[in-house]
Amino acid sequence: MSKQSEQLLILGSGPAGWTAAIYAARAGLSPIVIAGSVTAGGSLMTTTEVENFPGFVDGVQGPELMASMRAQAERFGAQILLDDAVEVALAEHVKRVRTGNGLELEAPAVILATGSAYRRLGAPGEERLSGHGVSWCATCDGFFFREREVVVVGGGDSAMEEALFLTRFASKVTVVHRRDEFRASRIMAQRVLEHPSIEVVWSSEVLEFVGEAKLRAVRVRDTTNGDEREIPADGAFIAIGHDPRSELVRGQVALDAEGYVLVEHPSTRTSLPGVFAAGDLVDRTYRQAITAAGTGCAAAQDAQHHLASLPERSVEHRAEPVGAAA
Ligand code: NAP
Repeated sequence: MSKQSEQLLILGSGPAGWTAAIYAARAGLSPIVIAGSVTAGGSLMTTTEVENFPGFVDGVQGPELMASMRAQAERFGAQILLDDAVEVALAEHVKRVRTGNGLELEAPAVILATGSAYRRLGAPGEERLSGHGVSWCATCDGFFFREREVVVVGGGDSAMEEALFLTRFASKVTVVHRRDEFRASRIMAQRVLEHPSIEVVWSSEVLEFVGEAKLRAVRVRDTTNGDEREIPADGAFIAIGHDPRSELVRGQVALDAEGYVLVEHPSTRTSLPGVFAAGDLVDRTYRQAITAAGTGCAAAQDAQHHLASLPERSVEHRAEPVGAAA
């Protein structure tokens, strides 16, 4: 097991992590980004067109935006590990992070930017039929439902985006939403409501995902009159939001009741000195790529000030690149 001393470790590689890496690298901190073994790039890797990230008049594909941010961070000297942080010890002056590949990293400053994960409905059949018709990612799995009927669950922008994307493949898309109005932005909701291949089933909750080896139908209950029925479906896409990915730091930094990392707004300082947090891990309100990038920038500056305030360099600047960098 190799051990490596650094100045700054960044956990996560969405817009917050990459932006923190760009700023920190440009400030000469030679950050290490622990980007994830299969999840590098975060949620935007499974998003299609991003139309509202400033600077892209005609929009940009999510994966392309992430690849550009990564390249920009690398240009200034950030090192990327396609590896997972599996254990952290953040309380002491020197923070320690162990990775899935067996690296032991330590640094006096850490930025947490591990984002959020797809929320589960908790309905019967959901986990069993996951990968057999039930999915959380239309961009990944939509292709398998060419000329098939699919259901999308949710009423936010993600559900709208999934539904619209699925019309490229599916013969019919049914959006099931628990209330009688969408939470989504007006423009996205309007596109769904006007689309000829999309039907909306309002005020309905999912009771079960039905099928043996693969999904056959989604059983729903109308909350206005209690009526139950099955909507035939080969695919069901669950888009009901995200939960913060804070399991790794639970019990170390302070979290709120829903697991979001608490910071001293407007800074990115957590309850532990030298530990900063940015992006969807912190933000229950705005949750946009641009706001995540903004807090990533702030976290890099907070980390820089923290390092500058230390009486003396507590770790040596590394001379060699770390092993297993991508
Ligand atoms: P969201 O805005 O929190 O919406 C979640 C939706 O799922 C809501 O309609 C909610 O219903 C429903 N829901 C939550 N829990 C449920 C449950 N247990 N059972 C049934 N329905 C449930 O999440 P999101 O759509 O993932 O969007 C997250 C953020 O990303 C938002 O800020 C959004 O604007 C942004 N985003 C933007 C774009 C874009 O601009 N292109 C695309 C995707 C996401 P209620 O409405 O009844 O609460």
